Amino acid sequence: MAFHSRDGIRFYQFEMLSARHAVFTRHGGISPKPWGSLNVGGTVGDDLERVKKNRRLSFQALGRAPESIFDVWQIHSADVVHARAPRPEHESLRQADIILTDQSNVTLFMRFADCVPILAHDPRKGVIGIAHSGWMGTIRDVAGSMVSAMKKEYNSNSADIVACVGPSIGPDHYEIGADVILQVMQKFGDDSDLVLNSINGKIHFDLWKTNEILLQRAGVGKIEVAGLCTACHTEDWFSHRAEKARTGRFGALIAL
Ligand SMILES: [Zn+2]
Repeated sequence: MAFHSRDGIRFYQFEMLSARHAVFTRHGGISPKPWGSLNVGGTVGDDLERVKKNRRLSFQALGRAPESIFDVWQIHSADVVHARAPRPEHESLRQADIILTDQSNVTLFMRFADCVPILAHDPRKGVIGIAHSGWMGTIRDVAGSMVSAMKKEYNSNSADIVACVGPSIGPDHYEIGADVILQVMQKFGDDSDLVLNSINGKIHFDLWKTNEILLQRAGVGKIEVAGLCTACHTEDWFSHRAEKARTGRFGALIAL
C-alpha cells in the first residue's frame, strides 16, 4: 500500500524511492475549510501560524527537524537551486522550481495543488532532488533540467537516477486551451500525439506521460508514476482546478 499514516498525518510514498520522502495528503493538519486541513501554502489566504504548524507536523511525521527545510519560491521556471545547508528562517526565498542537495542535514520541500511533483534520487552519488512541473514547467523541461543539473553538479550518471512523478492533475481532468495546445505542439512536434488526448471534443494534456517521456529522454534509469489524479480525489489532495482556486497546497519532502 502506497499510503501511510503517522500521528494522523496521511502521506504517499513511492515503491522505488529509497530516500526518505513523502507526498502529504490534506489530512492531519489544523487549518479549517477551504484549506482543510494540512495546508502548507502561505499565499492562499490561510493563517500563517497555522501553515507553519502544519509544516512542522508534516516534518515531525517523517522524523525530520523542521529547521532542516530548504524550500523556494516556485515560479514555473526550470531554474535550479543547490541547497548546501538548510535555509535560514529569516532569509527570503529564492525563486526556482528545482532544488538539489547532497547534504544529509537538508530536507527539500515544495508545495503543490495539481502541478506535478518530481522526486529524484541518485543512490550511488548520494544526491536528491525535488521539482515542481506544471504545464509551463513541463514545456520548459523541468524534468530534463533536473537530471542535467545532477549530472553537471554531482557527477550523476542518469542511469543511476530514480525519478518519481507524484500525485497531480491527471489527463482525464486537464483540459487545455488553444494557447497551451500550440505551445505543446511547438515543443513536442510529432510526439504531441502521445501527450495530447481528445476527450469529448476537448483537448487534454497528459502531464504524467509528458514528464515520463522527458525523464526517459534524459536517460533516467528508473521511473515511477503515481498515477493519482488530484482533481479526481479532492478528499485526499488539494486541487487548484477542481476546487476553483479556493484551496490549499499539499507538501512533498525528500531527504537523504
Ligand atoms: Zn482526474
